Amino acid sequence: MNSNSAVSAGRSSSNHVNALIVVDVQNCFITGNLALSKAPAGQDGAKVVPIINDLIRTVPFHVIAYTYDWHPRNHISFFDNLNSRRKYLKFNQNRTINMYDEVIYTGPKVGTKQILWPSHCVQDTEEAALHKDLYVPSASNNVIHIRKGTDPDIDSYSAFADNNRVKKTDLDKKLRERNVTHVFVAGLAIDYCVGGTALDAFELNYTTYLIEDASGSIAFESAKRKIEYLQKRGIGIIQANDVKTLISSACDNSFSTLLIASINLFILLLK
Ligand SMILES: [Zn+2]
Repeated sequence: MNSNSAVSAGRSSSNHVNALIVVDVQNCFITGNLALSKAPAGQDGAKVVPIINDLIRTVPFHVIAYTYDWHPRNHISFFDNLNSRRKYLKFNQNRTINMYDEVIYTGPKVGTKQILWPSHCVQDTEEAALHKDLYVPSASNNVIHIRKGTDPDIDSYSAFADNNRVKKTDLDKKLRERNVTHVFVAGLAIDYCVGGTALDAFELNYTTYLIEDASGSIAFESAKRKIEYLQKRGIGIIQANDVKTLISSACDNSFSTLLIASINLFILLLK
């Protein structure tokens, strides 16, 4: 197919401008150091790829944004960098700390809680590349790529801003430039980056949906808690099958409204 038709065909009579945000569907979370299959939920992260591909190919999104966890080698989130950062540890700096423990760093830039992950998604490595089967339409104004977690001293789960709200990425700016009103979030993983991105989208006043079956989880319990929290806040939790209906019914509704308005005008002119 024409690689951009899925993205550009979406202009419609609806005033909704729909964006799909594909969060971190990268090798590191599928086959790499932080593969979901090694996490408590034991999922195959690649399971989201055909579902997301199908959405991109069949739903007329106006904008598609791909996000990348994109860390320098000395990143604060890596367990391997703990020893070089011990001087910033709050409480006993010489204590034994294990992978996946949460610590509090007092610096160097900001004080932050930090889970210590295996090294992952190092910039410009094969691990940080998008999964080879993920469909990416060729470059156009409506296809956006966003890299996050690029500062060595600040981690970022959300694709909009870092965990401490020190820096924003360009995602919000780029969505606003394209007049996006509705955001659909999918990818890896619900309990961290997908959930964080959906929450920020909602707080930035986009009508927000999280596509549950197009997203993976690190741990079922934390993903479930996150879903419940997001739902309570007002984010729609939906399945991939619901997306087409949601978008086309919005188009149909506004098409019907337009049709009715035109008929009324015609009748008025006839009088
Ligand atoms: Zn990361």
